Amino acid sequence: MKAVQYRTVGGTPEVVEVPVPEPGPGQILLKVTAAGVCHSDIAVMSWTADQLPFPLPLTLGHEGAGIVEALGAGVRGITEGGTYAVYGPWGCGACPTCAQGKENYCPRAADLGIRPPGLGAPGALAEYMIVDDARHLVPLDGLDAVQSVPLTDAGLTPYHAVKGALPKLVPGSTAVVIGTGGLGHVAIQLLRALAPSRVVALDVTEEKLELAGQVGAHETLLSDEGAADEIRRITGGRGAEAVFDFVGASPTVAIATACAAVESDITIVGIGGGAALVGFGVTPYDAAVRAPYWGSRSELYEVLDLARSGAVDVHVETYGIDEAPQVYERLHEGRINGRAVILP
Ligand code: NAD
Ligand code: ZN
Ligand code: ZN
Repeated sequence: MKAVQYRTVGGTPEVVEVPVPEPGPGQILLKVTAAGVCHSDIAVMSWTADQLPFPLPLTLGHEGAGIVEALGAGVRGITEGGTYAVYGPWGCGACPTCAQGKENYCPRAADLGIRPPGLGAPGALAEYMIVDDARHLVPLDGLDAVQSVPLTDAGLTPYHAVKGALPKLVPGSTAVVIGTGGLGHVAIQLLRALAPSRVVALDVTEEKLELAGQVGAHETLLSDEGAADEIRRITGGRGAEAVFDFVGASPTVAIATACAAVESDITIVGIGGGAALVGFGVTPYDAAVRAPYWGSRSELYEVLDLARSGAVDVHVETYGIDEAPQVYERLHEGRINGRAVILP
C-alpha cells in the first residue's frame, strides 16, 4: 500500500510502498478514506534528532477516518464495514486520567511507549492504518468522512480550548482568534455556536480573513503591530475576555497578551515557539494563561454532535495521496485555506 512517510531527520515527506499491516489482538485495521494534514507535522519535521521522541521512518497523519476492514482477535463493539473517526491522543486507557477520557493528558503514555498515530505510531496518511484499541474509534454516524476528519484535531483541539474559556464568554464579551487556518477557522465557528461573544479574527492575508468572515467572525484584522490597539479600541479600551492564539509565535503571543482584558483567559494553542511573559504589571490583572494539548475522548463525541447539528462546517481542500508532499509545502507557505484532506 502507499504511505506518506517522514523518513530521515531534516528530510521531506515521501510517498512510499509499505506492506498492508495486520491487526493483532485487540487492534482494528481501518481502510483510510480521509486524512487531514496538520501544521504540527511541520514542527515535528523541523526537530533535530535529539528532539524527536520517536524513531523514523514515521507514517504521518494524525487526523484519520475510514472504514473497518478487519478486526483483530477479541475486538468487541466495532462493526466491520462501519465508518469511524480516530481519536488520536492515545493514552494507557487504565489510569485515573484516562478513566475521565482525558487520554491526551495520560501521565503514563510516554513511559509505556504509547504514541498517537502519525506522531510516533504509524499514522493515517496511508491506504490502511492500525488502530490500537476499539475505544479510539468514534462512529461517524451519518457524517461525511472527508468533511469531518479534521474535527479529530482541527475541531477537537479548539473545542477543548474554547470550552475551558466559556465562563469568561458572557454576553457583551469579546473573543479573539489569532491564526484562522485549519484550527482557527473551526475555532471561530465553535465560538459562534457556544458563546454569545463578539469574535475578532486575525491573520496575515486577506484570503484567510475572508474565510474567517465567511465562517462567522464579526471583525477581521490583519495581524500586525497595530492589531492589539485596534482590539482595545473595538472593545472600548477593555480588551478581549478570551484570546486564542493558533500560531504561538513570539509576535502573536505578544498580541495575545497585549489585547487581553483584566481577568481574561489567554490560550496558546499554536506551537510556534513563542512564550508568554507572565507577571504582575506584565499580564492584565488576574489573566490566566493556558497551553492546552488536543482534547478528551468525550469532547470528540461532543464536536461530532455539534457538526451533526450543522453548527460546524470545515472548509476542506482535497488532494490525492501522491500530492501529499506538495500539500505539506503549501501548508508551510500558508497556501492552504481551511484544512487539506488527503484521500488515500
Ligand atoms: P495552519 O497553517 O492551517 O493555520 C495557521 C494560520 O496562522 C494560517 O492561516 C496562517 O496564515 C496564520 N498565521 C501565520 N502567522 C501569523 C501571524 N503572525 N499572525 C496571525 N496569523 C498568522 O495551521 P493549523 O494546522 O491550524 O495549526 C495551527 C497551530 O496549532 C500550529 O502551530 C500547530 O502546530 C498547532 N497545533 C497545536 C495543537 C495542540 O494540541 N496544542 C494541536 C494541533 C495543532
Ligand atoms: Zn495536529
Ligand atoms: Zn492513562
